[in-house]
Order: sequence, then C-alpha cells, then structure tokens
Amino acid sequence: MSRGHMWAGLLVRPPRLKVWATLIVVAIAIVLIAWLRLGPIDPVLLQRTQSITVLDRHGEVLYESLGSGGTRGESLDASALPPRVVEATLVAEDRRFFRHPGIDPIAVGRAVAHNIRALRVVEGGSTITQQVAKLLLRSDNRGLPQKMKEAVLALRLEHRYGKREILAMYLNLAPYGNRIEGVARASRAYFGCAPQALTPAQAAFLASLPQRPSAFNPLRDPERARPRQQHILAGMVMSAEERAQAKSERLRFSPTSQPVLAMHWVERALKTRDERGEMSDEPTGGRSSLIAHRSSLVPAKSVTLRTTLDAALQRDVTGIIAAQRDTLLRHGAHSTAVVVLHNATGEWLAWEGSGDYFGTRFGGAIDGVTTARQPGSTLKPFTYALAFESGESPATILPDIPSHFPTAEEGVVYTPRNYDNRYRGPLRVRAALAGSQNVPAVAMLAKLGPESLLRLLRNSGFAGLEKTADYYGLGLTLGDAEVTLEQLVRAYATFARGGKTVDGRQLVSQRTAFWITDILSDDAAREYAFGTGGALDFPFPVAVKTGTSQAYHDNWTVGYTRDVTVGVWVGNFDRTPLRGSSGVTGAAPIFHSVMLAAIQRSRGTLPIGDTTPIVAAPEDVEAIDICALSGARPSTYCPAVQKEWLPSTDPARFCTWHHDGSIDWPAEYRSWARAEMPASRVAAKTPEAFRITNPPNGATYLIDPTLRTEYQTLRLRAAAASRVTWQVNGRRVGEEWALKPGRHVVAAIDGNGRRDEVKIFVK
Ligand SMILES: [Zn+2]
Repeated sequence: MSRGHMWAGLLVRPPRLKVWATLIVVAIAIVLIAWLRLGPIDPVLLQRTQSITVLDRHGEVLYESLGSGGTRGESLDASALPPRVVEATLVAEDRRFFRHPGIDPIAVGRAVAHNIRALRVVEGGSTITQQVAKLLLRSDNRGLPQKMKEAVLALRLEHRYGKREILAMYLNLAPYGNRIEGVARASRAYFGCAPQALTPAQAAFLASLPQRPSAFNPLRDPERARPRQQHILAGMVMSAEERAQAKSERLRFSPTSQPVLAMHWVERALKTRDERGEMSDEPTGGRSSLIAHRSSLVPAKSVTLRTTLDAALQRDVTGIIAAQRDTLLRHGAHSTAVVVLHNATGEWLAWEGSGDYFGTRFGGAIDGVTTARQPGSTLKPFTYALAFESGESPATILPDIPSHFPTAEEGVVYTPRNYDNRYRGPLRVRAALAGSQNVPAVAMLAKLGPESLLRLLRNSGFAGLEKTADYYGLGLTLGDAEVTLEQLVRAYATFARGGKTVDGRQLVSQRTAFWITDILSDDAAREYAFGTGGALDFPFPVAVKTGTSQAYHDNWTVGYTRDVTVGVWVGNFDRTPLRGSSGVTGAAPIFHSVMLAAIQRSRGTLPIGDTTPIVAAPEDVEAIDICALSGARPSTYCPAVQKEWLPSTDPARFCTWHHDGSIDWPAEYRSWARAEMPASRVAAKTPEAFRITNPPNGATYLIDPTLRTEYQTLRLRAAAASRVTWQVNGRRVGEEWALKPGRHVVAAIDGNGRRDEVKIFVK
C-alpha cells in the first residue's frame, strides 16, 4: 500500500469516526435500557414477601400476615380485579398507570417542581409499579439511592409482568392499616364483604388508606380519611345519581372481624423471631404458595412461627380482663397487663399487654408487659431472699418502730412508713414479709446494704436498674426503681424453681427459695394485714405478693404455684393515678381468676385441698417451736408458741423476753412498748373488747365464677373471751359462711350476750 493511499485513508476518517461514535453511544444506550428493563430481579427479593403464620403451642393460628395464599379467597387474581377498586386505586395513586413504562416522567417532573418550591421532599411521584417495587424491597428509606433502586426494579417488573398483574401485586401487598395487607383482607376486615361487593364509597375509602395506613386507621378515627375519600370519589366515573349516593354514604365498620387474640404477643413474636429458646422458626417448604395465584407470579415463601403461647388460656385471660373492666374503670385504671409463665420450661403461656390492643385513647397498642414501672412491694421478697442468703431466717426479729436511716446524702435521713401508718414493734421476718410492712423491710436492707440487693436484683434479670446503689438508696426494697412485668415474673419463677433462674443459674439456695415460697403462701401470716377469704386466698398453695407504687400509679399482683408464675399489672400508660385501689382491689382479683384458669388448663383440674408445698422443704430444716414474740425457742413463760422452719443444726437460743407476768423488752423496743403496752396489759386483765376481726367492716368480696361455690367461703372470726355465735342477716350460721351476692350484715354474739356487727358486700 502506497503512502498516498494511507493519507487518503486518513482523510476520509473523520466522517467514519462520527458514525462509530454514534453507534457506540446508541449501543451503550441500548445496553443500558436493556439492563434497566431486562436485568435480573433478585429472586431472594421476591421470596422475601413471606406469608408468615404465627401459631400457638398447639398449632392454633394466632395471626396470618397474608391469608393462605388465596385458598380462602384472600388475594385477588389479575384476571378478575374488582373494577371499582381498580378505578379508585388508580385515581388515588397513579392515573396514568396504563400509559407509562413503570416510571411516570410527568409525575416525576411535577414532584421535582413541588419539592423545589417546598425546599424539601413532599412528594415522591411514585407510580404503582414503583410502590410495588418499594413493597418488595420492604424499604422505609426515602433517600435517593433507595428511590433509584425502586425505579430500576419498577422497570424490570414492567418488562416481566402485564399491567394488570402489577396492579394485582399492588392490591395484594399494599398496607391498609391494623396489620392488614391486601385489599381483599381489608375489605373483609373493615366492611365484612368481598372486594367485588364494595360500594364506590367503600372502594374509595379503602384506596385512600395505603398512603398513610396508620394515620388513616378507620378503627381509630373514621373521619380522618374522609377528605381523601371524597377527593378520590370525585375523580371516579359514575352517573350523577350514583355520585350523589356515594358522596353521602355513611360507612359502617365492623371491627369485630379484627384479629384480637394476643396481638402484643404476635408483634413481639414477629419482632424477635429468632430469639433463642422462645420460639422456633420452621419454614414449611411444602406449603409454598403464590401470593395471588398465577397473576402476580411472586412466589410467597410460607413461614410458620410456632410460639409457646396457649391460645385457650389467652382467651381465658381476655375474658377475665373484660369481666373486670367496669371495676377497673371505677378505680380509674384503663390498662391491664397479664402474663403466665410455665415454670419448668420458662415458656410464656399467656401474654396480654394492655387489655385492649385496638383501643387508642389509652395507648392500647403499648405492651404493658415490657413497659418499665415502679413495682412497689413486689420487690420485697428479694430483700428477704438476700437476708436468708446472709444467714437470717423467717424467725429473725425486725424492728417495726419509728426509725430514721442515714442516706448517701450528708445530713439527710430516710424515715419509712407503713401503709396504715402503724408500728407493730418486734416483727418476725415471716410476718413482716407476709404482711408487707415497709419499716422492717427497710431495717433489713439497712443491715444488708443496698449494693448487695442491687447486685441480686440485676442477677435476677432486672436489667433496667442502671443507676448506682447510692442513687436508689434504701427505697430500693420498697420498689422505687423501675422494672417490667416480664422481668418481675421471670424473677419470681426463680423461687418457684427452687432458686434456679429460668436460664438455669442457681441464683439463691433451695432453702431460701423454700422460705420465701412458704411465707408468701402463708394465709395465716398475711391475715393481720390483708384479712382472709379475699383474692389472695386459694384452695391450694399459691405464693403471692401484691404491690402498689408511690401515689397509686401502678397496682401489681405476682405469684406462683409449682406449675406457673402469674403476673398482673393494672394502671395507666400516661401515669394517671388510680383511685382508691390497693393490691387487693385492682390487680388481685384478676390474678386470682387467671391463676385458677392457668392451673385448670395445665392440670385439667383444680388441685383443691392438695397441700403439697410449692417448693419442698430441704433436708436441713425442720419445724421447730418458737416464741411468737421473740422468735427464740419458747420458755415456759412464753404465751404464744408457733412452728417455724429452722436449720436443724442451729444452736437452740431460748426466749429471754418473757418472764413471769412481765416482758423484758430489748432496749430498742422500750419506748415503743411504753406507748403501746399499757392498753393491752389492761385488756389482758379485763375481758377483751369484743369485736369482729374478720370480715372487716365495709369489705367487698368478689365471687369467682371459675371456682366451685362450696370453696367460696368467708371465715368469720372475732376477738372474744368466750364462745361466739354467728348470724348473717339475722340467720344463724357457722364459722365458714358461703358467699352469696348482695349486701349482708354479719353479727357476732358472745357468751355474755354482747353483740358486734359489720356490713359487707358480695359481688
Ligand atoms: Zn417468749
């Protein structure tokens, strides 16, 4: 080839270069568009649209995230989309849906203009296809990279699926509030009908929901979505007559078709799906189904979540709370949390967070089981458990006398008071704990130190106690720190399990667990403070403790048998105080019924009369006679002798307080005794003032519908020197009186013909 030719070649090159460059640009554009439209869709992405079914321990369905893949007609087929629903949805979300390629340039342009004017993102300009992409990606992120991802996925969906198939995907995936996915379920849940049967007004209403499913929740406030519904109606094609009717149609909602059982539990299960030991996640390969038959072509991996809950017991709990609602409202309590724990496995059998998940005025969706509140006296057993671990016993004497304790703050003293503002002098640990007196509990903690109690509480699972021991001070034993019902119940189960936590650590000795349990199930030891025959008494051993936080914000009852631990909280999430509610009137009646229901469910029958102790007495203790006042072995002068479980190896110390006709008080009790004793000494010589000691005047008793009537009796007791005969409403009765509804006058007549009477009320 000559030089000339070469030059000639070079001379003609420029036009050819232009062609090549154009070709390359076109090729790149084609490849890019092809990649955008034809590129792969991550199959995992499509699989992430799982249908999750939450089951109880026996396989009963508690919750389904998406029907059962169409078998119950819960999803729509692309070939049979209800025309009114389609029309309303297109008006609401994407009017040019059938004309754009997945992204709508006009809508994007308008959104950009809006956003520039508002200087922030106010409008997304998303097409229905982009929203399907967003639902598949499960993204809440509104950033630009996420928007790009959604746009690319939208283009690819448009390539693979027809417009009606994409529309079906949207209608089957979109959120309609109250955890409802898909318009078919929403139609059934809100209006009780199939989507084909919706009126234009109803269709427009449903179409307005996916944009803001929680703000437009129709069960909370049906009026909020109304302006948008009217706007959508205006954009739909219909006759003048139809339009007039649709505009004025009053929508009726049927919230009864909502899933209501254990919603707080279901939420927790979905949130903590892989929490160890709580529940198992079993993907059921064989049950894989399509979200919307063939139409959407999105394979839904069906995941079954078997949980430990017992749906039957949960229903019992729901019914018990409902039965108590009026009483609770009278006390100003709007929320109730209840849990039941299976002691042997540490599994939750019942879990109710508020008593009204769908109620909005008082925060029904809040889970009261996991909300930290002041536990009041329910922490006292841990102070005494610590004391037992440190060598004290139920016979240890504590001072229930006016006392002042130094605090971490220089010059500031702490002066605890009992609930009834009385002081009872020397009190055995058994009586102090069973009667829930504050002063001896503080005296005990002053001896042990708040640091060691704080350590025990943290080891017991009260994870929220993050402040220092100085910060909490001695008030720690009175429940000034905040704990959750979940933590409280798990910690109590430790005592039921002989000192072993539900995760298998030996927290305290079996002897300590036995003592705490024996005291908390001792009806007689509790009687001087709580009376008998009420919600804390059972026809079989139940260890139980009540608590009321400062200023009556929270009301608790926690307790256990060998089988289960039950916890009840009553209060208000906004911390409005309760009115006239104590441990015995608020949470306790619910506790009573839930405990009976739980035992009935776990054993199939109530072990009435079975006195087998909850925790067996360890071999190193034996029932020993002690002086009721000094707690030491009785001398011949001790007037009252009781049995107490004490270490058999303990050296015998004899009572030095009682002497022939007088008491030699230890120094710290002398001023208390001077103030208290003269009256009682006088009383001891003359016949004692005759009066009824049980029932207390004005008491209200609740008949438990779950318990056989012959066990619903009231023990009639009087302080009297001679034999007493009893009358109820003028009719002679025995010392055990079967409760009957109504107002009653209980009268006692002693051998000298003296009479005392009290009025009671039985519901
Ligand atoms: Zn004595």
